Amino acid sequence: MKIIDIIKNNSLMLSFEVFPPKTETAFESVKTATEEIAKLHPSFMSVTYGAGGGTSKYTLDIAKNIKERYGVPSLAHLTCVSSTKETVKQKISEIKAAGISNVMALRGDIPAGLEDADRSGWDYKHAIDLIRELKETNPDFCIGGACYPEIHPESVNQKEDILYLKEKVNAGCDFLTTQMFFDNNLLYNFLYKIREAGITVPVIPGIMPITNANQVDRAIKLSGSFMPQRFKSLVDKFGSDPAAMKQAGIAYATDQIIDLYANGITNVHVYSMNKPDVAMKIQGNLSDILGK
Ligand code: FAD
Repeated sequence: MKIIDIIKNNSLMLSFEVFPPKTETAFESVKTATEEIAKLHPSFMSVTYGAGGGTSKYTLDIAKNIKERYGVPSLAHLTCVSSTKETVKQKISEIKAAGISNVMALRGDIPAGLEDADRSGWDYKHAIDLIRELKETNPDFCIGGACYPEIHPESVNQKEDILYLKEKVNAGCDFLTTQMFFDNNLLYNFLYKIREAGITVPVIPGIMPITNANQVDRAIKLSGSFMPQRFKSLVDKFGSDPAAMKQAGIAYATDQIIDLYANGITNVHVYSMNKPDVAMKIQGNLSDILGK
């Protein structure tokens, strides 16, 4: 089933994100964790893709398993930046062969050391190159793209970021999923600006439950997200007590989701990162709202 059809609901629905194992030895434990999450019957599950190709080989195995064994629609991520046309073509045919029709089409992060390289000869410079190709070769795919309420770290300013986002959507994105954010007002502000700019596709906010203090620096470094004082106080208070920090982080993410729903957003993507207990607790906290 296509994501674009799934997200036409009027009441709250959650989707969860998982990532594939880095090694074959870790495959079974990751598979089990993703199955535990699938048993929660989310609206869909997305499976990330290693930008450097590191874990990409397992993305489809996990996505296919979730879909076939649990009937949960899966969204396979695909990055293009360090790939050749030939590799991407091969990956697309593997996606099709796995029976998956939802693809999150991404550029991926520029591999370390190549930030200042001359990119003129690269087969793919931006996600839009992959999206155009997918749309042309597989018009039946439902294509997602990434967007950044606090602008992409490489962007000069938000105006330019939104201009490129509009081009990307026009090239064939059916929906967008946001980078994590910890202040819902930044999301509302971003939505207002992109709607003003004429971007009309559904936007699924991405919420990252921070469940241990060590995750904070990494999350900020990766996403460039603003940490509101309310969140910083929570980390200061509970950061040294793992169980309390986990509970507080889950409560914070739950609050964000409730606020989003209260403000008219019916689909929220949770960066559950192979943690069934976290996914379960968030879903449990929202059980009456979700009717589950
Ligand atoms: P783009 O849309 O290409 O944008 C990247 C930058 O280029 C932006 O600054 C943009 O403004 C600019 N730009 C875009 N188009 C143009 C243009 N035509 N001309 C000039 N500049 C342009 N990474 C992974 O490795 N694997 C994953 O599975 C993964 N999943 C993700 C899921 C979500 C929801 C999000 C938000 C991010 C994910 N990422 C993943 C991270 C993502 O790959 C990085 O953020 C990457 O740096 C940008 O990818 P993009 O697809 O947004 O790129």
